Order: sequence, then C-alpha cells, then structure tokens
Amino acid sequence: MGWNRKVLRVNLSAGTCTPEPLNMAWANDYLGSRGLASKYLVEEIDPRVDPLSPENKMIMATGPLTGTMASTGGRYTVVTKGALTNAIACSNSGGYFGAEMKFAGWDMIIFEGKSPKPVYLFVENDKAELRDASHLWGKTCWETEETIKAGHQDPQIRVSSIGAAGENAVLFACIVNDLHRAAGRSGVGAVMGSKNLKAVAIRGTKGVSGIKDFPAFLQATGAAKKVLADNAVTGQGLPKYGTQVLMNVINEIGALPTRNHRDVQFEEAGRISAEAMHEKRATDGKPHLVTNAACFGCTIACGRISKIDETHFSVKNSPQYWGASGGLEYEAAWALGAANGVGDLEALQYANLLCNEHGMDPISFGATVGAVMELQDLGILSKEQIGLDASFGSAEALCKLVEMTAHGEGFGKEIGMGSARLCAKYGRPDLSMSVKNQEFPAYDSRGIQGMGLAYATSNRGACHLRGYTVASEVLGIPVKTDPLTTDGKPELVKAFQDATSVFDSAGICIFTSFAWTLADVQPQVQAACEGDWSMDKLNEVGERIWNMERQFNLAAGLSAKDDDLPPRLKTEPAKTGPAKGLVNGLDKMKPEYYKVRGWTPEGVPEKATLERLGL
Ligand code: SF4
Repeated sequence: MGWNRKVLRVNLSAGTCTPEPLNMAWANDYLGSRGLASKYLVEEIDPRVDPLSPENKMIMATGPLTGTMASTGGRYTVVTKGALTNAIACSNSGGYFGAEMKFAGWDMIIFEGKSPKPVYLFVENDKAELRDASHLWGKTCWETEETIKAGHQDPQIRVSSIGAAGENAVLFACIVNDLHRAAGRSGVGAVMGSKNLKAVAIRGTKGVSGIKDFPAFLQATGAAKKVLADNAVTGQGLPKYGTQVLMNVINEIGALPTRNHRDVQFEEAGRISAEAMHEKRATDGKPHLVTNAACFGCTIACGRISKIDETHFSVKNSPQYWGASGGLEYEAAWALGAANGVGDLEALQYANLLCNEHGMDPISFGATVGAVMELQDLGILSKEQIGLDASFGSAEALCKLVEMTAHGEGFGKEIGMGSARLCAKYGRPDLSMSVKNQEFPAYDSRGIQGMGLAYATSNRGACHLRGYTVASEVLGIPVKTDPLTTDGKPELVKAFQDATSVFDSAGICIFTSFAWTLADVQPQVQAACEGDWSMDKLNEVGERIWNMERQFNLAAGLSAKDDDLPPRLKTEPAKTGPAKGLVNGLDKMKPEYYKVRGWTPEGVPEKATLERLGL
C-alpha cells in the first residue's frame, strides 16, 4: 500500500501526542509527502494566519516511496506557511530521517499550537512523547543530535532540529537532519522555533510493509535504478562532481548571478567549482573534497564531504572545524560565493558549515549578504552601520556575518529578515533579488529565460526545485530548448512544475529527474500503492497539487502582482556572455502561462479548471 495509514498529531500547547488514521481519500488524490501534507495544511489553517503564531501548523511528511528500495526514497518534507514568504511552504530533505519516520510506522506528524517551554518530540515506533529540551536550547544542530543520541544511548536515532537561527526567528532558518541535510527554504525552521520545538528524534524498527505488489515493485525499482546508472548525469557527473558540476557550465552560458545579479559571469567561478574541489591545495597538498555521500537508498550519491584547509583564516584557531563535513553543493557555493563576489573556496565551506550548524538556509543568507554588499557599495549602508567592511568579494565579512546573523547580533539581526524586508527598510526594494520575499537560487533568468517564469510563478517563492527548466534549456533533458528565447516556455514551465509535484509527493529526490521522467516513476508508484496510478492520474495529481497551493496563496492575500521579478532582471540587460543584451521576457510569458494553466488573466484558476481537478 505504500502508506502506513497513520498520522501522529502533536498538540504542543496541550503537550499531547495522538495517533489518527491517514485520510486515504486524500492520499488517493494527493499521493503523499508534499501533496498530501499540503492538503492537510490547507484544510486545517486559516491562510491569513501569522506564520510565527501558534495558529500556524507544521507538518513533517513522508511519501509512499519513502523508506522503500526505490532509489533516493529517503525524502521527507516540511509543510507549513512560510515565515519568509507568507506563502505555502514545502521544504524537502534527504538523509535518513524520513525513512526512519516511515520505519517507526508514521506517514506524517502534524505539529499544532505552541509549547510553553522548549521541548523535543521523541518517537520510538508507536510510542511518542514530548520531552523537556531546556538542556538543548542554545545548542547547535550538531550538538543537539549528539546530545539526544547520547541521552537515549542509541546512535541510530535520527534527529531533525533547529539551531540558533530557528531559535532567534531568522526568517530563513531551516531544519537540519543527519548533520548535513536540511529542509532548507522559506523559513520552516523559524516556524519550528516559534513553537518552542527544538528537535524531533525518531527510532523506527518496523521496516516498510504493505508494498502492494512486491515482485512488480522489485522489477520497477530495479529497472529505474538501471536508468539512473546508465545516464551520464546521474551515473557519472553527479557522483563524481556533485551538483557543483554546474558551476563552470552555468558560468560559461552567462547565467551565473554575480554580485547581487549585477553580472552574469563570475571571473573566479573556476576557483569555487567542482573541478577546484578535486585539485590539491598549494597550502597542504590535499584536495578539498574527501569523498561523495548518499542519502538513504540513493544510487546517485551526489553529496559532497570535504575538509577545510586547517591553516585558513576562518578555522586556524578552531580545530573543531578541521574534520570532514558536508558540502559544498552548487547552490550554497553560488550563494555564498558568486552572489557576493567571493572566490575563496575554504571560506565558502566554512560559511556553509556554520549554516548547517546553526540551521540557516545558505541560499537566502548568501543572497541577502549580496544585497547588503551592494547597499554598501552604493553608499546607502555604511561600514559603521554594518559593523564591518562588507565590500563585494570580502571572505572575512561573509564569515563574520554568518555568526552574527544566526545569533541575531548587531546588523545580523537585519540580515535575518531576508533581503526583501532589509532592502525595503533602506529604501531600495528593487535591490532584493527575490520573488515572494524568497531569494533566487543560482540561475540568472536573463540567460535561462524559462527560469524567470518558473521563479515568478513558484508557489513557495523563487526556487529552482519547483520547475527546473535548466534541465531542458541547458542540459537538453528530456529535450533541448533554447535558453535565450521565451517561445514555448509557458508550456515547459507548467510541465516541469506539475511533474515535480509528483516526484516530491512520491518521496523521491528531484535529482532523479535528470534521468527519469514520470514514466519511470509511474511503475514504482503503481506497484507500491493500492489503487490505479496511471500516467494520466499522476499528471492530474501533479496539476491538482499545484492549483491547490495556488488557491492557498491567493486566499493568503497573494496575487498576480506577486508573480514578478525584480526590475533589474527585466530592465538591465546581461553585460557579457551568450545572453549579452538580453533581459528576461517575463511580461511576455506570464499571460500565456496563465492561459496554459487555465487561469484568468489575473492569475486565478478558472472555475472549469478547479472542477476538472476536483478542487
Ligand atoms: S541525488 Fe543527492 S540529494 Fe538526492 S537523494 Fe541522492 S545523495 Fe541525496
């Protein structure tokens, strides 16, 4: 059946943990994880609720393939109303936590209310209880995980927790599991912190039972693994170079946002690339990269494990950072690096470590620092106001600002608001490179036109994981389209958005989509889950999820005007590279996209669209 059919409802105000059956009618319509948890959220909260109030809820959810032998089937999602965006938020994480939740017998954990004091949830198979976390409050995510495992004398417990950023209401705080994996975006960690929930610790020993047709499931997952192994990206590129393989590729096509999107190519991209991570350092003769790593059940293993140069200024007096640790991945390397003009690989790894340790999204943090650097460059912010010299390219400033932001110290408190609120406060809202208050990831939409539309219309704010048209526009997956034209992009964006909704809801990693289409996912879902899961049905489920999320955002007060890009991307042409002279053609694509979606010119789903999707 794919699902455990069990939900754990945790009322933090009352201190109760109550099991309830999973709504199977909803599972049949929304599959699991992102889709199903969003359905619960939409049904249970007022869309206009303050994200940091007790009335907001936070849901941790697995998909039907989570914990199974499907490749990459270790994902779980955190669904809530986003602290950064005021929109529906769904952040997805790998590692081992999601599979453990499934092994303990739960599909979903719903957190409601607010605890009067810091607590953590401890789940051991069917048993669930809230425990005092006063000894954990103030600890980093890494210390929290270690302390919980030691306290329970069980190293196999899996932990998701917040660090200083979540405790201090940094609006882009994330939730970290298994040391280096995070439900990263939209401020889900700030929501968790607002509930005085420090951590969720799970131990499950039940395995996954109830696969509908096990021989068919074995066959389908085996065939799908072969597709991953035979594909150049998932079989060779990602295991060897990680997502960082993109740094030089995206720089060459002139789509690497640099210095707060002033430029589209970074002259030091090579120094912070995947290739650089393999090279031996001049200082100690060792390469930055130690090995690759995989999340639960993953046959791709894109994760990076690296070691910082012990003589580097950031760590030379801090031996606790000399060991091997997670990163760098492409998005973090870009946001901490090119977005700020910083070409110091060791500094980026250090800043990334601190983001993991303190539970902070490196994309939004790095991009907000980029905005601060531009505000200083323009003379709008002084070094005295910031408390240091935040010139573009300053690795020292980057490293100091991570600590200041996570702990809410000095100007770090303002960075913790995110770039949209910060730039508005200093009179230059146009300098925030964001959509719906969420900062862009690592692709400049002047050089990859479809990404501009994908960013603008993403339900959770600017995001590459909601409609990754880079796959088609740059890598030719599944078909090559021209990145410099807007033609055909509305249809392409819709197709990617709907398909991604299904990948996310199944409980698998979106990186499989470099090799898999929905046709590779369908037999796995069909064999695992009761009922009919034809291609037509999966396509409809994906579209239903997208429209449900849209309906929530509209009810929350968002509108077509929020489906927009910063003026820089629409009026300042790219200065170099293949896109030289181009701006993003969002204003041409958006009306067509609304039409393709079956929405009014105001971006509201038509009655017929809602009826067709059963919404
Ligand atoms: S592809 Fe990478 S991120 Fe995805 S599950 Fe595998 S190791 Fe984790």
